[in-house]
Amino acid sequence: MAVETAAYTEQTDVQRDITEMVRQFVDEQIIPNAEHYDHEDSFPEPIVEQMKELGLFGVTIPEEYGGMGLDLTTYAMIVEELSRGWISISGVVNTHFIGSYLLMKFGTDEQKSHFLPKMATGEIRAAFSLSEPEVGSDVQGIKSSARQGEDGSWELNGQKMWVTNGLGSSVVFVLMKTDPKAEPAYKGMTCFITEKEPWKEVNEGDYAGLTVPPKIKKMGYKGVESTELVYDGYRCPPERVLGGGEEGVGQGFVQMMDALEVGRVNVAARGVGIAQRALELALRYSQERKTFGKPIAAHQAIQFKLADMATKIEAARLVTRKAARLKDAGERSDLEAGMAKLLASETGKECVEECFRIHGGYGYSKEYEIERLYRDAPLLLIGEGTSEIQRMVIGKKLLQRHKI
Ligand SMILES: Cc1cc2nc3c(=O)[nH]c(=O)nc-3n(C[C@H](O)[C@H](O)[C@H](O)COP(=O)(O)OP(=O)(O)OC[C@H]3O[C@@H](n4cnc5c(N)ncnc54)[C@H](O)[C@@H]3O)c2cc1C
Repeated sequence: MAVETAAYTEQTDVQRDITEMVRQFVDEQIIPNAEHYDHEDSFPEPIVEQMKELGLFGVTIPEEYGGMGLDLTTYAMIVEELSRGWISISGVVNTHFIGSYLLMKFGTDEQKSHFLPKMATGEIRAAFSLSEPEVGSDVQGIKSSARQGEDGSWELNGQKMWVTNGLGSSVVFVLMKTDPKAEPAYKGMTCFITEKEPWKEVNEGDYAGLTVPPKIKKMGYKGVESTELVYDGYRCPPERVLGGGEEGVGQGFVQMMDALEVGRVNVAARGVGIAQRALELALRYSQERKTFGKPIAAHQAIQFKLADMATKIEAARLVTRKAARLKDAGERSDLEAGMAKLLASETGKECVEECFRIHGGYGYSKEYEIERLYRDAPLLLIGEGTSEIQRMVIGKKLLQRHKI
């Protein structure tokens, strides 16, 4: 039951067609099966295979590389729909999307033609790795490092943390320190395109020196794996420095922060999607459940909850699409992406909590979908920068733009 708040749509024909197609896929394939994969904490392989057939791994990849060539705004609409079904499914494509963005924007021609066609079909999937056991928000504090040998190849060492798709991916875009003495520190960082065997814990041969410890056990966001990655003498040829062996060295931090802007729009869209699902569940349950002789939806206190949920979702959706449109127009959108991520992720959590309250005791039962949403929603407050970090970005940008 998708809830339309108004007949007016700001979508183009292409956007409407593709979101309707994805919505149908979500209603038929994702929502009925999410509980099973969540409960088992197993990778939803059959759903992912269907997503490959639908072309969902290549939405933003240019047609010349086999993708659909659509923009970030359309992608955000798709992610909203997928997340309405289950945010773990959007997690399977999210880091892949960030990796393809990095290649499209900063990759050499050889890097693009080597990776993008296989990424467009989903034959290979990408992960994105900044965080470490001791570092998340303060990215400039990473300790993992890479040193160039006399033959030009790089040796990578260090431990990465919280890598979504860390085991099933074939390629990881990883940030390493390449000049520990650089001032400021961000100028001494480089992004490496590290290849690996998918689903293999210990890599050998060309990929020796990269191991994937057992997946991290989580409260929610099940099905898609989050892992550590251990680089221990992993060799990376110079042509796998993002942007090329000479041009790309020292550019990693700037490249990754650019990618985080689109990543934040992506997380914002996930917040809107999970909030939308919470509203749908609340609307249905509140008309079914009766107290004091009438459906609880007839009590004004419940109607106010529904009204607040719908209003906040609409606002979060609009700011998310605005941030996406700015990026599509080639504008810097860090302020807007920060606002979208902050508002939509907080809206996701608030709407899920309100829906949980509306379900009374049944909200606490695993029989009801809201229980899964309640465990999934908090992730959105953390990933791609916490709410505190978004407020820091927004505050800094506001003062820059309005300096007296
Ligand atoms: C399920 C999951 C999947 C993830 N996937 C990925 C991934 O694919 N790739 C990846 O690189 N990372 C990933 N992450 C990591 C995520 O990006 C980090 O957890 C996040 O950036 C926060 O970092 P941290 O956990 O180290 O918290 P910390 O940085 O240690 O922060 C702890 C607390 O302090 C607050 N804080 C920190 N600095 C300040 C400050 N200056 N002022 C005020 N408050 C502050 C934070 O907001 C937070 O509340 C994932 C995390 C999770 C949980």
